[in-house]
Amino acid sequence: MTTAPIHQPAFPPAEAPANLLELPLDVKPTMRKRNVPGLPDEFEPLASGPSGEDEPAARVRGVPKVDVRYDSPWSNWHNSLDVGGRVERQLTPSNAWTKASVQVPWWIGLIGMKALQGIVIEARDRKKRVRAFGGGWSLNNVAFIDEDLVNTANLLDGLWFVDENRRTIPWMLDPHATVDPGRLVLAQAGTRISTLHGWLESRRLSLPTCGASNGQTIIGAISTGTHGSAYGVGAMQDYVRGLHVIGQDGKSFWIERESGPPIVSQTFCASLSSTLRRDDDLFDAALVGFGCFGLIHGVLLEAVPMYLLERFVYQRDFDAAIKAALTLPLEDWETTATALGLPSTERPYHFEIVLNPYRLGAGQKGAFVRVLYQRPVPPSGALPHSSRPDGTTLNSGELIGCISVISEGFSAQIMGAALQHQMESIVAPTHGRGVLGTCSQHFGDTERTGRGISLEIGVPRARAADAVDLILQVTARKAFGAPIALRYVKASSALLAFTRFEDITCTLELPGLGSRTASEAHAMIFDLFARSNIPHAYHWGQGLPVNGAWVRQAFGPRLDRWLAARRAFLTTAEARWMFSNPMIESLGLMDPPTCA
Ligand SMILES: Cc1cc2nc3c(=O)[nH]c(=O)nc-3n(C[C@H](O)[C@H](O)[C@H](O)COP(=O)(O)OP(=O)(O)OC[C@H]3O[C@@H](n4cnc5c(N)ncnc54)[C@H](O)[C@@H]3O)c2cc1C
Repeated sequence: MTTAPIHQPAFPPAEAPANLLELPLDVKPTMRKRNVPGLPDEFEPLASGPSGEDEPAARVRGVPKVDVRYDSPWSNWHNSLDVGGRVERQLTPSNAWTKASVQVPWWIGLIGMKALQGIVIEARDRKKRVRAFGGGWSLNNVAFIDEDLVNTANLLDGLWFVDENRRTIPWMLDPHATVDPGRLVLAQAGTRISTLHGWLESRRLSLPTCGASNGQTIIGAISTGTHGSAYGVGAMQDYVRGLHVIGQDGKSFWIERESGPPIVSQTFCASLSSTLRRDDDLFDAALVGFGCFGLIHGVLLEAVPMYLLERFVYQRDFDAAIKAALTLPLEDWETTATALGLPSTERPYHFEIVLNPYRLGAGQKGAFVRVLYQRPVPPSGALPHSSRPDGTTLNSGELIGCISVISEGFSAQIMGAALQHQMESIVAPTHGRGVLGTCSQHFGDTERTGRGISLEIGVPRARAADAVDLILQVTARKAFGAPIALRYVKASSALLAFTRFEDITCTLELPGLGSRTASEAHAMIFDLFARSNIPHAYHWGQGLPVNGAWVRQAFGPRLDRWLAARRAFLTTAEARWMFSNPMIESLGLMDPPTCA
């Protein structure tokens, strides 16, 4: 994976476009048949008008290209056990027509949007469930459906909100908008975080925060509440300003907040053939919506001026200073910073603790502290030029990789030694030296491992030490190969964000390899937390208890608001069923199925 952009987002036209796409909504995309015995690779027009007859006019105007693979296997990126399976149809839409010399839309991304509309209409007509996936990085079945599964990998375009000369384009913004349009970018569904970094850095902008690595798509990332540890910023969904969603019956909607200044204009929505919905509950529900509100075609992000981060990593005992730091005591940070021996008493931008659960005794140095301080970008001159600052950053993928040496059934003693060895080389203490880099350099590429699993629990930061104690009760009884990584995230207003706990949520992640021992240990952790009085919620893209009890307990009235917003947006039981899957049903996130 690379941080270099594939290509830059498009610049908008100076005037509101007149050549809106004129495809009738119920024209279906042409499907390319593959993997069907007896059928060669070929273009097979499925387009038909409302009457069911062929509609030549639609083909003259253009039919979006969608590749189809029939009856084919799907697994997630890490090949996790029990994730994925065979799929009736895997559909890959593109920003391309099936025939040359058809209508040129004002933005090429509109062709992909039309393809998604066709896919939804066809799924409705065939009474199939439809679900999109991004990078496939989720470690559970949240992105999976065995009926119509949409691969967004070819929807890679973007759109700036200013022109080549950084001049505002008035027709795109609401007259009362106060946002700086130079910081806005609309990214299509398949845009990877690595690509976004490239787009933004070319304009001296940065993402306000991101996860530990860069292979997720932006929509996949926000849909499960992906976060880093910039505790003053929030998770990735918290800098989204608008969502472009293909919902019920293939209709196109632009969703943004009602509170606060408006962002896009009615004209802009019309240029996307979209209905504008300004609605706080709908916005906060759809943000972390894991595919349950439709196929999201694009997302509007507000970036920040580019910044650098200086990273320090310290290794130490799990002593009183670390224990006191588990709750991120910002109120008395000077004392904490001094006790931890940090290079400065200023508050860091990013704070993280990683523990080896089998090396927590005196002298065992099983605790690692990572702090990143925000630094200005020099007004002129080069940025730090290594693609990754020396000293590898910690991320889930690497943690999964680092313990791949550990097999099932080892004692805590052996497990602890192997884990310690790997953590020392991967988390890589910097010995008092600061390592300077951009956001994209610190949170860069990662390796794919087989059978990766992980679970992550969000708790109020005040309960972080109690949560560590619970997890240590399990590792004491059942040693399994996973460190405990604690990160801190400002509470999110997204209704089902697992980082919902005020004022700052502490997330505790245990990344490892899938094995019987690990599954049993996870089940013990789920059980202990369920019986504890610690408010908690699980990361939607990782291992979690597949039942509705914890969801109700974790979100209460927020869950009711999420369900109500979904019912108001997807007004029929059929539509809600279409954009669901068995995991969503088991989590109590939808009405009883009516079409199964
Ligand atoms: C190596 C690794 C490192 C990770 N690091 C972190 C981390 O640092 N912090 C963290 O919080 N998490 C982390 N995760 C978890 C990961 O960020 C989430 O699982 C994220 O959702 C994956 O994004 P994705 O693009 O792969 O989405 P997928 O896993 O493909 O999909 C996630 C959800 O989004 C939905 N979706 C995707 N695209 C669309 C669309 N166009 N329209 C509608 N719905 C859509 C899917 O249906 C699914 O419900 C990590 C995972 C791995 C494997």
